[in-house]
Amino acid sequence: MRRLLRDGFLLLLLAIPAAAQSGDELWQSLIEGNRAYVGGTVTFDHLADLRQHSADHQNPPVTILSCSDSRVPPELIFNRSLDQLFVIRVAGNIAGTFELASIEYAIANGYTKLIVVLGHENCGAVKAAIAGGDAPTPSLEALLQRIRRSFHAKPATVRAAVEANAHASADHLLANSKVIREAVRSGKVGLVAAYYNLTSGVVERIR
Ligand SMILES: [Zn+2]
Repeated sequence: MRRLLRDGFLLLLLAIPAAAQSGDELWQSLIEGNRAYVGGTVTFDHLADLRQHSADHQNPPVTILSCSDSRVPPELIFNRSLDQLFVIRVAGNIAGTFELASIEYAIANGYTKLIVVLGHENCGAVKAAIAGGDAPTPSLEALLQRIRRSFHAKPATVRAAVEANAHASADHLLANSKVIREAVRSGKVGLVAAYYNLTSGVVERIR
């Protein structure tokens, strides 16, 4: 009986079309997932069923551009399982050509209803950008230069710098991709910037 109920509930969940939710509703749902994570009640149940269901197609309604930092895994901190998040991770949560292409792909395929740019507390890439000096490789230098361009003045705190960088990263998506810009301006896709607190686990919306 319990298994019947469980399977019925799962089928119901799988049957809910992602398109039914707006960007705002999706954000609220992510925040509920974050509360579960903060409260330590995250579970990843029904993985075998979800794997079966999503094997030949995906329809993740949320795209997340977040940092590569090992302490900021989007699926965990938002309590999201397979087929729910389209995740692009790069040090400093900034977008270059291929990151823009990944987001455009998810929009063009009709998955994305919400884009979240997620900065985080104590980000090493942002701290390196604040510290200045020469980076050890041209690629790292390019990354730090991009982050530095988001600082209009010397940031008062690392948090202020992380927030400035997340805002600039969101602006970069709009400025450099017609697909993203038109999707966001038409209201088909929401765009949120957020800040993740490493110690508490809480995600705060900053845009
Ligand atoms: Zn980081």
